[in-house]
Amino acid sequence: TPRPHWLFGDQLGPHFLDPRHGGPDDKAPVVMIEARSVLRRRRFHRAKAHLVLSAMRHRAAELGDRVTYVRAETYAEGLEQVRGRRASSPLTVCHPTSRRALDFVSGLEGVEVLPAKGFLVSHDDFAEWAGRDKGKGKGKGEGKGSGQSQSLRLEGFYHWVRERHDLLMDGDHPAGGRWNLDHDNREPPPRGQETLDVRGPWRPSEDDIDEEVRRDLDRWERDGDVSFVGRDGPRRFPATRREARTALRHFAAHRLAGFGRHEDAMLAADPVMSHSLLSVPLNLGLLDPAECVELAEQAYRSGDAPLNSVEGFVRQIAGWREYVWHLYWHFGEDYRHRNALRHTTPLPDWFLDLDADAVTANCLSTVLAQVRDTGWTHHIPRLMVLGSRALQDGWDPAAVTDWFHRCFVDGYDWVMLPNVVGMSQYADGGMMTTKPYTSGGAYIKKMSDFCAPCAYRPDHRTGEEACPYTAGYWSFLHRHRTRLAANHRTARAVKGLDRLKDLRELLDTTAERGDAPP
Ligand code: FAD
Repeated sequence: TPRPHWLFGDQLGPHFLDPRHGGPDDKAPVVMIEARSVLRRRRFHRAKAHLVLSAMRHRAAELGDRVTYVRAETYAEGLEQVRGRRASSPLTVCHPTSRRALDFVSGLEGVEVLPAKGFLVSHDDFAEWAGRDKGKGKGKGEGKGSGQSQSLRLEGFYHWVRERHDLLMDGDHPAGGRWNLDHDNREPPPRGQETLDVRGPWRPSEDDIDEEVRRDLDRWERDGDVSFVGRDGPRRFPATRREARTALRHFAAHRLAGFGRHEDAMLAADPVMSHSLLSVPLNLGLLDPAECVELAEQAYRSGDAPLNSVEGFVRQIAGWREYVWHLYWHFGEDYRHRNALRHTTPLPDWFLDLDADAVTANCLSTVLAQVRDTGWTHHIPRLMVLGSRALQDGWDPAAVTDWFHRCFVDGYDWVMLPNVVGMSQYADGGMMTTKPYTSGGAYIKKMSDFCAPCAYRPDHRTGEEACPYTAGYWSFLHRHRTRLAANHRTARAVKGLDRLKDLRELLDTTAERGDAPP
């Protein structure tokens, strides 16, 4: 008889039940556990809680009498209910996506942990790549002083994935002759336009299950059982396989062609622009990355989408997403506690509460409102508006990671740690990136339409109209002067500090602001 198989809430697509490639037993009965303690432990965005519970309950409805769906306080209690007196009866589970969950299932008697699904590259293949690449020469413009492990650069990994999976390749060469088309994908937003000329993203309609989840959340909140941040409803992201496939096809047909050009640009009235919004169904396990990149390649081969857009999208999924997943496991548990810059300031209440109305700086207020209302913004607002504010103000990186995890609909432990601890807060001292990502207001002005109506001026460092990003940038460089002067990618910027005649005044202004909303 087939062993029962336990599905976590981010393992919801059909590939998690496919018995091939180390999957569960054929026709295995399925177990799902809705553990309330997960929501009780931390204050999640309400739209995220709604989305995950809705997706789990939709999956259970599809599986019908094949599934035992348990509502319990904890996973352990849920399992106890399922296994009854036969506490060590055999059970399988696919490799979970967090270390905490992996430790938990690995410690259970009778449970076999099957290989991870939902990623292109297996743990063994990654280990082979990481080993194989060791000792290879330095990449152009990298190395000295950055402290980054040379063998683990994204670019080399990404080329290897493309070759290995024959993605966007013409024989032995990258399609179109170039691996990297980033240069074509950094355009500012089109001037004078409030939105991009592109068809809007696919959005779902709610059903009875969504309603039921919302009633449960209302009740739990009323009873003081759990508390949330952010606004919820209507649901904006796919919660079923069918919805996820529709969203993917809609993106490939109508939006992929324009994905590249303005990938890094921001428009206040058009938060989504040409982004795919597929991180949610991918991270719930509703879509497999292979089908996403294959569909994108087809669009290129059939002449429906230009190479810069298709390469940009493939790079995000086959490059960045895979890279982040493997770094999470590769860097180990200590990574979560890294704090190379010794930042210890607690997050201010206005930020924790997503109180966008309290903020004057138009970029931050707009982006914080997007998070409050939807639990999502694209990568540049995450990195250069939210993350950059935290970095410049010296907020505790572990608390920043926790905030992103709770407030973003696509946030999970594995994706959060490298993106926030490494990429955004430089708390790993350069294991993942060669320099900290932060900028003054000039970058935000160039890449968005936020600055024109703002009360602050991006080119003012001091005074009433000093842009908090411009002032914050210089004060960040000043605080970490020694470290940043030793890094060849930031040394020039540090030299710029010596030319500032108003540095003292600038530092006083930023200190005066304290943790008041900028
Ligand atoms: P698109 O721009 O359409 O990109 C396509 C896909 O590429 C995404 O759906 C995603 O699956 C993948 N991708 C691209 N970059 C990354 C990356 N750095 N890490 C993982 N996947 C990537 N992504 C998450 O999925 N969950 C997170 O919690 C998350 N937190 C982030 C926090 C910070 C500070 C930063 C800088 C980035 C974070 N990202 C996260 C990466 C990226 O911002 C989101 O994947 C993306 O904005 C999701 O929107 P989209 O699906 O429209 O992406």
